[in-house]
Amino acid sequence: MKITGEMLIGASALRGSDATLRAFDPARNTELEPAFGGGGAAEVARACELAEEAFDPFRRASLETRAEFLEAIADNLLALGDALIERASVESALPKARIEGERARTIGQLKLFASLVREGRWIGATLDSAQPDRKPLPRPDLRLQKIPVGPVAVFGASNFPLAFSVAGGDTASAFAAGCPVVVKAHPAHLGTSELVGRAIQKAVADSGLPEGVFSLVVGAGNAIGEALVAHPAIRAVGFTGSRRGGLALIDIAAKRAEPIPVFAEMSSVNPLFALPGALAARADTLATGFVDSVTLGVGQFCTNPGLVIALEGPHLQEFIDAASAALEKKGAQTMLTAGIAAAYADGVKARDKTGIERVATGAKTDASCGALPALYQASAEQFLATPPLEDEIFGPTSLIVVCADEDEMLAVARHLEGQLTATLHLESDDFEFAKRLLPILERKVGRILANGFPTGVEVSYAMVHGGPFPATSDSRSTSVGALAIERFLRPVCYQDLPAALLPQALSDDNPLNLWRLRDGELGPN
Ligand code: NAP
Repeated sequence: MKITGEMLIGASALRGSDATLRAFDPARNTELEPAFGGGGAAEVARACELAEEAFDPFRRASLETRAEFLEAIADNLLALGDALIERASVESALPKARIEGERARTIGQLKLFASLVREGRWIGATLDSAQPDRKPLPRPDLRLQKIPVGPVAVFGASNFPLAFSVAGGDTASAFAAGCPVVVKAHPAHLGTSELVGRAIQKAVADSGLPEGVFSLVVGAGNAIGEALVAHPAIRAVGFTGSRRGGLALIDIAAKRAEPIPVFAEMSSVNPLFALPGALAARADTLATGFVDSVTLGVGQFCTNPGLVIALEGPHLQEFIDAASAALEKKGAQTMLTAGIAAAYADGVKARDKTGIERVATGAKTDASCGALPALYQASAEQFLATPPLEDEIFGPTSLIVVCADEDEMLAVARHLEGQLTATLHLESDDFEFAKRLLPILERKVGRILANGFPTGVEVSYAMVHGGPFPATSDSRSTSVGALAIERFLRPVCYQDLPAALLPQALSDDNPLNLWRLRDGELGPN
């Protein structure tokens, strides 16, 4: 499939005339063909109007149609073949094998949501029978179902050109809920976005759905994203990126005549607690596993372990020595964009200026838009007194916080901002301390893991990729896994509605064969 540099507005492909944008190959430091025509408020308005028109027919289409639509997108993505892998790899400087893995994850995600749609438990169908004889007052007949919120705006993430982008988790969960989607293409992977957008556009047409179910807009600078969030047809926003970008969009959404929710995943340093038993048992292997996790994908993961918290002592020193030796062997590698590489260099420079010790630096190798890994160490006292040490530096760096005793370790845990993850490395003799730590971490993070590394997020029913601010703007949800659908649903209650007017999901004979909570009993009733 040829990349034309056009936007996809419903069933049409059109060239914006507001600006010219080009994708960039960060590894070769060159611009890529073709030039993209960037649009503005007019194209956003057209895409949003089409999305609004498509909303009712799309949400009323059968669950089977919606599930098959998600599967068609998955098939169309695969049919793009090597062209997609090639382009995504060139635009992101991520190895082809990584992009292939991401494609598999994106396809798996779409299929998970297809099976979720068919199964229908997300509708939350609930029936409370009337109790006409109840004293002192009769109870009405009450029935609840969840319906989609309306058109959703999605901002693709720079660091996952497939799995968190045009057909990524936000889009898949919004479609699964029955919401049309307008995607704002990330400027770092314009060609990949167009290819994937065309795969979705074809699936919309082949499924007989209204064209406005999907649009892809492209524009230069913040204006197009701002116009998208401000458009009255948009009812919710999914975003992955910087804290600054997320907060700007939240501000726009809150100031609308009708404010809307923004589900923004922004910033997390993912603390790793290396407890004394684990350090005594395996300081060396823990150190090499940790360095591999910090430098994986040039550290460009929202779950990168940017903070290690441990008790001082000879085993911690062994860990620091082994981690330093492992990190010094890692060379500089190309980051996703020149802007992200510059932000990393600035972040490391600012950390050096705080006066804490840099214990290791990666091997100096040439890489266009490169990032050199760096490992720091600070006392808990320094960490607690220096707020910027808790800020995310997006890239291959981490900070080891050395605590004098268990109470200080708990104080550091209490001090942390909201996080996507917290990791415990522990042995059975650490369990008593872990019991004191866990209640603190539960209040801070979305996922707690033991004896592993946070990079690598499974797409499944139980996954939570969320957490309190600033990890996300709404800790009640997740942007990965089946629960992500909840962000784009809202409950509606029907009181004493005549049977002939009830939605299928709530009618007495349960024609959709859903699991429902009927008079307090859950089952296919
Ligand atoms: P970004 O600058 O926040 O951009 C993400 C998307 O939001 C882009 O499409 C961008 O488009 C749009 N955007 C940003 N600010 C906006 C605003 N004020 N108004 C309207 N639209 C806006 O993130 P990025 O380009 O992916 O990476 C930059 C930094 O974000 C990284 O260095 C890193 O610190 C952080 N990041 C964090 C994660 C994470 O998972 N925690 C992931 C990726 C990146 P335009 O630029 O075209 O407006």
